[in-house]
Amino acid sequence: MSAPSVPVLHTFHGGLRLDGRKEASTSRPIQACPLPATLQVPLGLHGGEAADPCVAVGDTVRRGQRIAVAPGRGADIHAPARAQVSAIGLHPEPQIHLSCLPSSASDPQDEWRMPALDPWQAAPNALLERIRAAGIVGLGGAGFPAAEKLSVRSALLILNGAECEPSIACDDALLRERAEDVVLGGRLLARLVGAERILLAVEDAMPQASAACAAAVARVGEGQVTLVAVPTVYPEGGERQLIEVLTGREVPRGGLPRDIGVLVHNVATAAAAWRAVVHGEALTHRVVTVAGSGVMQPGNFQVAIGTSVAHLIAQAGGYSARAARLLLGGPMMGIAQPDDSVAIGKQTNCVLVLAAEEIRDAAEEMPCIRCGDCARACPARLQPQQLLWHIRAQRLDRSEAEGVFDCIECGCCDLVCPSHIPLTEQFRQAKTDIRIVAHKRADADAARERYERRNQRLQRESDERALREAERAKQASSGDAIAAALARAKAKRPPRDDA
Ligand code: SF4
Ligand code: SF4
Repeated sequence: MSAPSVPVLHTFHGGLRLDGRKEASTSRPIQACPLPATLQVPLGLHGGEAADPCVAVGDTVRRGQRIAVAPGRGADIHAPARAQVSAIGLHPEPQIHLSCLPSSASDPQDEWRMPALDPWQAAPNALLERIRAAGIVGLGGAGFPAAEKLSVRSALLILNGAECEPSIACDDALLRERAEDVVLGGRLLARLVGAERILLAVEDAMPQASAACAAAVARVGEGQVTLVAVPTVYPEGGERQLIEVLTGREVPRGGLPRDIGVLVHNVATAAAAWRAVVHGEALTHRVVTVAGSGVMQPGNFQVAIGTSVAHLIAQAGGYSARAARLLLGGPMMGIAQPDDSVAIGKQTNCVLVLAAEEIRDAAEEMPCIRCGDCARACPARLQPQQLLWHIRAQRLDRSEAEGVFDCIECGCCDLVCPSHIPLTEQFRQAKTDIRIVAHKRADADAARERYERRNQRLQRESDERALREAERAKQASSGDAIAAALARAKAKRPPRDDA
């Protein structure tokens, strides 16, 4: 079968060419992170809900066994190891604590697997349900349930292997070693959504990953998968930016890729879906990059979900003397952590430890000079300085009208701002504040509706009571009138002769 042609590439607005800093973590193959003594498996799901535990404290669970059930099409949660349930907690985050037990990888009694399905013959509904039941979520960082995303038909499937954010190299490492699972997983996902074409996008700065993908495409791509080397411009890994680069089309503001017939899945998600179907494996582990000059031996690790960051960093040789800040995620979009007790979740792609001189917010904030650099760098085509102005003047409605929810929190505006204004933080906070206000407004509207409905009910009951009483009074008065008329008639009647 002849290979489909490589599409003409386009560009997206803004973005930055950044130093990748991935060599330190990709110089060695993916290492298996040993199991810690205890795992804190997060139950939180995309959208703020939590999965419902289906085990009790004291239960012994097998590796891969379901331990919490997600509502709807959400992804279930599974035990990453043979373990005993030691606690089920809600605070500070909903979690199941597992005390790991000795086990043998070859002992089937230690592991729970679903039966294998034929990826090309099984009914699409059975495959979708398998992907949901295996707990597959978007592994690029969003954590959106994969089965939910696969429920809409799309003409084009993009497999996203463009990490772009400096230091994060888990997809690069995965593609070097497991490209065949990615390509086969892509074909499986394409079958589910009816996609005629699959584009496997890999950064042009990932030559080894590209070579592995090219070989996998030739072996198992069946002429359906096209490998595309995309320029390494941050944040091209964002689905909207990647779609624009590969198709020249923009996802409409407030819309989704599906609105233009495109579906984007991270390469690791495709590989996990493939393994769930063909090997019956639940998602219990993922590849995580440990990077930054604050760790001794950066690398990529295969990590059990629920492993503490402290344990993972110990496997990377521990902290270096320069360690100053811990982030989950990359240097641009990562979230700073107060300590390393936090657990690795399904969407954790990177643990980054920065040295003091690498921390961007160390510089003092100055007034905005309206230079426009932030707008030129913004991939969402926003006017960040304008949004900031509205937010600082408490005009959240104006910031919303001018697109603050289109901000992808990429941090490009922060990086170029000569006044060191923490713009992204302001936009993230503004979105939270707007959601809280909307939530409160919805609560107040619901309370007002409840109050009005109660008043209407009381009024209706009162009217009905009054009507009933009026009826009774009318009947009573008409009864009295009849009795009086009978009495009058009787009084007028002449006495009978026989009386
Ligand atoms: S880059 Fe900074 S100083 Fe320049 S317009 Fe934007 S917010 Fe203002
Ligand atoms: S953080 Fe938001 S406003 Fe700033 S450049 Fe990125 S998308 Fe634009």
